[in-house]
Parts: sequence; structure tokens; C-alpha cells
Amino acid sequence: MPEPPVMSRLEVLRDPAVMQTRALAWRRAGRRIGLVPTMGYLHPGHISLVRLAREQADVVVVSIFVNPTQFGPREDFATYPRDFARDLELLGAEGAITVFAPEAAAVYAPDASVQVCEERLASCLCGATRPGHFRGVLTVCAKLFHLALPDVAAFGRKDAQQLRLIEQMVRDLNFPLAILPGPIVREPDGLAMSSRNVRLPAAHRAQATCLHRALRTIEQAAARGERRTAALEALLRATIATAPDARLEYAELRDWHTLAPAPAQWHAPTLAALAVHFGDVRLIDNTLLTAS
Ligand code: AMP
Repeated sequence: MPEPPVMSRLEVLRDPAVMQTRALAWRRAGRRIGLVPTMGYLHPGHISLVRLAREQADVVVVSIFVNPTQFGPREDFATYPRDFARDLELLGAEGAITVFAPEAAAVYAPDASVQVCEERLASCLCGATRPGHFRGVLTVCAKLFHLALPDVAAFGRKDAQQLRLIEQMVRDLNFPLAILPGPIVREPDGLAMSSRNVRLPAAHRAQATCLHRALRTIEQAAARGERRTAALEALLRATIATAPDARLEYAELRDWHTLAPAPAQWHAPTLAALAVHFGDVRLIDNTLLTAS
């Protein structure tokens, strides 16, 4: 028998109950399940997570769900880029995959009243300006974990605070799965890949490399022995300020485990994190400083 065409090895499930039944059957058959949660409009950063999950699983589930509960009322839920047909085409090249793409109404009961709240790690960085964002993220990930029953779930370091929070939830609530962190995948000029990059007009797209440049600058300073947190944060701010249309939201060094502000003399591992707005597009990027 010839191999079936690659596209036919994609299976699309819409119904959460069907997803869970399928996952239970895989589990009973002893198959290891790998989950990659996404909001779609896929790019090579997402695909790298699919490959990471594939290394440790027999079955790969990619969820595509623009989760309304993690967007604030003035955020870009309506304009978040979507192209399901293109997503399927990209995933088709990755071999057998189950795509779980539910409707919001099937995910959330109209009278749902239980959510996952974390109030320490979630209150700083992105959480400071996006109240409720991480409650939405943690709640939907908890639900995805219950529906797809993964042995491993892959998350990108691009969303460092999210990764840290998911790790904390998995530990604190005893989810029986391992989190696989994936490295940040970048455009050739250094801009971290993001579904939102497509919304940058050309002038802003050119300036958006300032995030990556700022992070490289402090990595180099740290490698030369700069131990002062304030000096590295000042370098971050100064590099972002070279982009005329950039509006800085935060440029901070934080302890990777507690996400508390780094002490006056930082020590590894320290997260250096940036959020920068260009017009109505908000970009984030980060690096983990490990050499102290
Ligand atoms: P999103 O679709 O933006 O919610 O992202 C889904 C997953 O892909 C998250 O775990 C992100 O951290 C990850 N991701 C997004 N962009 C990148 C990137 N440039 N490199 C690596 N992982 C990424």
C-alpha cells in the first residue's frame, strides 16, 4: 500500500467530548500523548514545538483555539490573525497530527464559575497590565490538559512568564504531565516570531528588531561581567529608545523562579523581559541570563 497523502494524516476534532474520548482510548492503548496548545496563525515557532512534542510522544495533538478569556476588553481578540486552512497546510507537512479546534461555546459553559487563579507569579510583567490574562491562560490550559490528557505538553520560552506559570500550575495541582520548554524561534533579523508580527506596518516592522538588539546587548554585557541589575535594565531601555515609534511597557530583570525583581546584583537564572508597543501591536521578548 502506498503512503497516504500527508494531508490525510491530519485529523480535525471540534468536539471537546470527542477529544477526551479519543485521548482516553490512546492512554488505554499505552500511547504517549504530546500536546501543543496554540492560538493558530501558525509559524515556525509553533512548528518547532510540534517537533519537540513528537520526540517524546506517539500521538501529537495541536490545539488551535483563540481563547477569549485571556483577552482583556480593550485587547485584540477580534483582530487576532486567523487562517485555519493555512494552519492545516503547515501541520500537514508534519506528519500525523490531531488538530483540536473547538468553538468557544463548546469549551465554556455559559454558567462556568471555576477558574485557575495564581496571584504571585501572575501579578508582575505582563500580568501587571493585563489583569485576568493569566487566569484565562491557566484555566484554558487546565481544561486542555483534561481534554487531551497529554503525557508531555510543549510551551515556548517566547512567553516566559506563561511558561513559568504553567510549570507552577502543573506542580501545585499535580497534573500528571511534563512540560517541555522550547527555545525562541526568530526571524533572520532577530525578531521573535509571533502571530501578531503580521499586524506591524513596514516602518514598525523594521524598528521591531530593537527588542532582540536590547536583549543581545545585555547578554554581551553580562558575559563581560556586568553584575548590576540597574545597569542592564538601563541598557535595555536605552536600546528600545533608539526606535522612534517604540513605547516601552516594561524592561525588567526578574528571578526566574520567583519572578521577584532581581536583586541589585543579579544572579543566574535571571529573566530579562521586555514588552514594547508599536502602535496597537504589543510585542514581548526575553532572554534567560544563566552565566553569572
Ligand atoms: P500562541 O499561539 O501565540 O498562543 O503560542 C502558542 C505556543 O507557541 C506558546 O507556547 C508560545 O510560547 C509558543 N511560541 C510562540 N511564538 C514562539 C516563538 N517565536 N518561538 C518559540 N515558541 C513560540
